[in-house]
Parts: sequence; C-alpha cells; structure tokens
Amino acid sequence: MQNFRRFTALLILAVFLLGTPSTFAQKAKPAVPYFGNVEGVTAKQLKDYLTFIASDELEGRDTPSRGLDIAAMFIAQHLSSWGIKPAGDNGSFFQKVPLRRLRIAPEKTRLEISGQPYLYGKDFLASMVNGEITNSPMVFAGNGWVVKSKNVNPYEGIDVKDKVVVIVNGLPKGVTNADLQGPDGGSYSSPNYYAQVNGAKGVIVIATFTLLANMEANRWNAVEKGIVQYGKPATTAIAIPTLSVTPRIASALFQGEKTSGSAIFTKNYTGEAMESFDLNANKRVNASVTTKTENIFTQNVVGILEGSDPILKNEYVAIGAHYDHVGMNPFAPGPDKIWNGADDDGSGTVSVLSIAEAFAKGKERPKRSILFIWHAGEEKGLWGSEYFTNNPTVPITSVITELNIDMIGRYQNPGDENHPQNKRLPKPHEIFTIGSKMMSSELGEISDSVNKAFLNLNFNQEYDGPTHPGSVLLPLRSF
Ligand SMILES: [Zn+2]
Repeated sequence: MQNFRRFTALLILAVFLLGTPSTFAQKAKPAVPYFGNVEGVTAKQLKDYLTFIASDELEGRDTPSRGLDIAAMFIAQHLSSWGIKPAGDNGSFFQKVPLRRLRIAPEKTRLEISGQPYLYGKDFLASMVNGEITNSPMVFAGNGWVVKSKNVNPYEGIDVKDKVVVIVNGLPKGVTNADLQGPDGGSYSSPNYYAQVNGAKGVIVIATFTLLANMEANRWNAVEKGIVQYGKPATTAIAIPTLSVTPRIASALFQGEKTSGSAIFTKNYTGEAMESFDLNANKRVNASVTTKTENIFTQNVVGILEGSDPILKNEYVAIGAHYDHVGMNPFAPGPDKIWNGADDDGSGTVSVLSIAEAFAKGKERPKRSILFIWHAGEEKGLWGSEYFTNNPTVPITSVITELNIDMIGRYQNPGDENHPQNKRLPKPHEIFTIGSKMMSSELGEISDSVNKAFLNLNFNQEYDGPTHPGSVLLPLRSF
C-alpha cells in the first residue's frame, strides 16, 4: 500500500447511491449534487481496517483458510455492531460456499520395486489419482512423447500394455511446446496419455532437477494443502497413476540394464537420443496411490441496509469486493512467505466496509436497500460471486446493479509508466470503470455526472468490455 489517496475514488459509489437514488428508475436528469453520508468515509478508518485485513496474522486470506475465516468474522462483527441486517444463511452474515479438498494419503501411498519399499515424500511423489499397480513389469520409453510432425515415436517395437512406462521428464530434443498443437492424442501424445490409451498400468517419471529441488514443497502441497475444488468434480483425463521418482529409485530401476540410471539422467540433459527397451522382466512394480476427499466450506459475507422507501426498499443495489487473496507459501524463497493482498483486494474489502459504516451511521438512508457482499474464492476463479449468483439470498432480479471494487489502493508513481509491471496501473486521479456503459443505459451516465460534480476523477474505460483479456465482468454475466 503506497498511500491512501486512491481511496477517494470509492467515494463516488457512495455518492451516487445516496445522492441520486431516484434516477435509477427515471431518465437521468441534472441534479444538484448532494453528498450526505460520504463524509463518513475517512482515510484513517480505511487505514485502520486495512491494517488488520492485510496483516500477516491473516496469512494472505487464501480460500479456504483460517485467515480468510477470521477476516469474515471481522467484517461480520462490524456489520453487526452497526446494525446492518445479516443476509447470509440462517440469519447469519455468512453464506456457506461448499468446496472439496483432495489430498494424498501418504500412509496409504506406497511404492515397491522388486520387493524394495520406498517412502512417499522422500523417494517419490504421486499424481492426485487413486490407483493400484500390481506386480507389473516395466518398459523404458525415453521422454515418452509421440510427435507426428517431428517423426518422434519412442514406442516403435515396444508394447506398453499391462506394464509401467518409465520415462525421463521433458520434451525430446528438437521438440518445443509450439509443436504440441491441438488436443492430446491428436498430432501428438503425452507420455501419460499414450500409456493410458495403450493399456499401461502407470507411469514412472524420473524427476528433473526442479522437481528434486522442490520435493518438500510438492509433498506439502499434496499432503497438507491439497487441491481445493469448487463446483462439479473435475473429470480427470489421466486415470492411471504417475509416480515421480528420485535418482535413488532411478538407479535401482536401471541396475544391470544396458543403460544405467545416471547415464539416462545425463542424456536427458544433453539431449542425446535414448533407446526404448523392456526392463529385465524379473523387476516388478507394486504401488498404490490413495487420495482422500473432504467436503469443506468457505463463505461469502452478506449484509443488508434496508432502504427507506416502502416500495423501493425491495430493490437492492449491491456493493461488493472479494476479500480473499492468495495466501502464503512456507517454501517461498526469502523471509517473506505471505502475500498480504493489501491492494488486491484488501483495498476493496475495507472500502465496502467503510461505505457500509457510513451508510449505517449516516443520517440519510437511501430509498433502495443496499446489499453489501464480500466474496470468497475470487483469486481461485470467481467462486464466491458465482455461488451467490446461482444461490442468491435475495431474489436475484431485485438486485438492480452491483458495484464491485477491486484494487483501488495503488496508482502510478513517477517512472511507473515505463515499468513493465506498473505501467498498467491507473495514473493519479484516474480509475478504471468497467461495465457501467456496456451493461446499462443509465449507470454510466449517473456515475459520470456524479463524478463530474464531486471528485472529477478521470474515468478510464479501457477494460470496459467482455472481450478484453483483463475483463472482470464474468461474475456479472448471469445477472
Ligand atoms: Zn482482485
């Protein structure tokens, strides 16, 4: 967070909600600017809230995580103390969003080669697929890729059926990602795909340097953190297990063969051609990979400030932000393991909170009701907003607009216009407005006129379209 001047931008939202509520239903007309409750939003208040939301103690607010749950509690407690009505599940501020967590069960994931057991996490890792390999012989297939355009096929003269295919990780010499166009199994086949469709029992991959260097982090990701999924269970294209093994296992695999494990490891780096061959038929693999799936939850936080008009209060203006970020990684290099997400989207989170406070404590109450919503899982793929859209806690057609605030904590400093990462930041007194003109005939006009009468920021509509690669309009499409 560089400073708080950008927060002035959010005030526009508060202004037009209060100042011109009737214009939603009528043709826009020139109105005398009236800024009422906006005085209730201050830089100090925003800073106080953000100091908590972006603190190390919340560990980067990953979805799901303890830090995110604490952030949700923090928001809910404030809403409650200001008299905002809960609008989540069962009279609470929380709308539960169901998720699944897949993890490897290390105690039930084992590998044995010719009777020698190896240890998961130390000697090998496994893909997140349940599978069993029983007494299978092995065949070595170099890098294992078939690439028709390059005439690469390591399987000529060998049969992988009922065997485990042993490969070294990486593309064959002369093949690049550009050669792999279209679906797997078309003009090319990945080693796992080829193995599966040709009846192999599994794949053993000799680990690369990168995998070996990150062995502990990969183990932690598979066993502790796991893969978290939202929505329908993803279908796994590759249903046979893949085991990534250390040089210790590679050495044992090629003991007494025509090529040693270390020679294969070296050839893979030098790009030397590798001959495919059946390993000694006495060598057998027994393995099992076991995953476990838990049903878990995260939550959106939802509250309502009831409108003052007996009829219009049945309509809602939603004001929202995602309150999650990307968490932490105990294996990240350097001393800082936490992505605090002060800008993305701590800034939006505390803006919505401050707007809620200003409305709740202010003298003026808008005619329509305001639905305040903090979404979870945005960084993972818009989970929270999609869930609310499909399972709204108020009739979805009564939500006349949603104003979403994301990343209003930063703008360009001198020199940033040439900086590769910062050149796309807004300039001072500039804000990206997205969707207001594309999705409504009135919203753009209203926000423009209120802006001109009040802060007069520069509205940049570069992202205002569903086809722009930076578009954030996806969660709104279902409206
Ligand atoms: Zn964001």
